[in-house]
Amino acid sequence: MLYKLMRCELKKLYIAMIIMLSIIGVICITGCVNKTKNETKLISYKMNVAYAENQIVGTQTTTICNYYKEGLDKLCFNLYPNAYREDAKFPSFDKAMESYGGIEIETVMLNDKDKLQFAVNDDKNLLIVNISPLKLEESISIYMTYTLTLPICNLRMGITDNNIKLASFYPQLAYFENGEFRNDPFTTIGDPFLSECADYDITISAPSDYIIASSGTLINSNKEGDNQIVNLTASNIRDFAIVMDKNYQVTDSIWQNKVIKYYHYGDENVDKTMKIITDSMAVYSDMYGMYDYPTLSVVVTDFVDGGMEFGRLVYISSNDSDLETTIAHEIAHQWWYSMVGSDSIMTPFIDEGMATFSSMLYYKSIYGDEAFESKLNAVCDSYSLYEKLQKMRQTGVSLELNKSIYDYTDYQYQMLVYQKSAMMFGHIYQTMGKEKFKKGMSNYVKKYKYKMGNIDNMIEELNDAYGQDIGGVVKGWQNACCYYVN
Ligand SMILES: [Zn+2]
Repeated sequence: MLYKLMRCELKKLYIAMIIMLSIIGVICITGCVNKTKNETKLISYKMNVAYAENQIVGTQTTTICNYYKEGLDKLCFNLYPNAYREDAKFPSFDKAMESYGGIEIETVMLNDKDKLQFAVNDDKNLLIVNISPLKLEESISIYMTYTLTLPICNLRMGITDNNIKLASFYPQLAYFENGEFRNDPFTTIGDPFLSECADYDITISAPSDYIIASSGTLINSNKEGDNQIVNLTASNIRDFAIVMDKNYQVTDSIWQNKVIKYYHYGDENVDKTMKIITDSMAVYSDMYGMYDYPTLSVVVTDFVDGGMEFGRLVYISSNDSDLETTIAHEIAHQWWYSMVGSDSIMTPFIDEGMATFSSMLYYKSIYGDEAFESKLNAVCDSYSLYEKLQKMRQTGVSLELNKSIYDYTDYQYQMLVYQKSAMMFGHIYQTMGKEKFKKGMSNYVKKYKYKMGNIDNMIEELNDAYGQDIGGVVKGWQNACCYYVN
């Protein structure tokens, strides 16, 4: 994400208690076709999504191969839309909205035959389905039906005028770690999402006059009365986003055999914007390894912050004041979030820091060293002043990078997770030199593409490329140290 506005201080968060019902299901077991944890396509979603009058009626079959643990006896799904409920304990909003939303799960079945009982936790943000113990490398298909009410708001999911944004709108398998599925509450600071790569096959029904932008590849589109029925697919992405608007103009181009689509409202500088998009793709493909998806959609939309990243699709705010920086930042997230995952909840400095620093490399490549130094210096000046003030006022505020999205105020998050982290990557880049940095980072991308990496994995690849230990510099920055502040 790229912030545009400062928002209110982070509220204290409390851990939700999960209420579980005892459920007995008959398990349909199939093998995972020789797939292992190190391979992809272990999770797939097949959905039918029908939009009408601010609601989605959805069906979803989620097929999951169990590489988590022997005897897996429950599955958990994030219900992100319930953070848009008026009474959400962990809401997606920090001020009153025109209307609220939410998702109601109606049926959960094994395949589409045997009904399973299900439960949601107390804040309704986690769906829990207990299953008969599943062996390792066996797969299971869970069918569910739901009704989603869309809020009227300019957040990630919602409706504004003719614009409909569907992000994190479906029940999404929670992230499995240390023997259990995680339950990460929503927050208005940072991006409270964590997921593995999955395959998607989505059929959406919507009035024919909407232009549909999505994370997927268009397979086919038919008319049925006043509606269009559109089938979209995507592989190896961490989430699937859809934006619909009656007023979109679509500008597209082919770059390196990939379809680039720009959805806008009559951009007067459309050629320049398309160049920013393709230049960003080219700079990062050269530095980190080729953009590995067949499409990218850059979508101007009513959005509270500067932009937001999803698999193969990025939001750019219709009110954004620095389109070039925002586009360069959001497209960098296709490497630092989408292709290579990291824990953007517990260690958000990795993907936000790399997206911010990568946008500086874009400026370096397109406008030269002076532009790069100007961008890096601006961040250094801003952060240095912040750190000096904290120390002068003895606020006791932590200057560590290694913290979760729940540990920062909005302002701290911007200063540390975006700025200090970008300075750290700038320092690593300047210490190693371009070629060794490029080699280390592209090896990291190659090794962890469609998987999850962490800072230690990154350091290992950087060390190999550098031929020396860069880890001390990284650890220094992660703690309180800032090499540019006197
Ligand atoms: Zn970002």
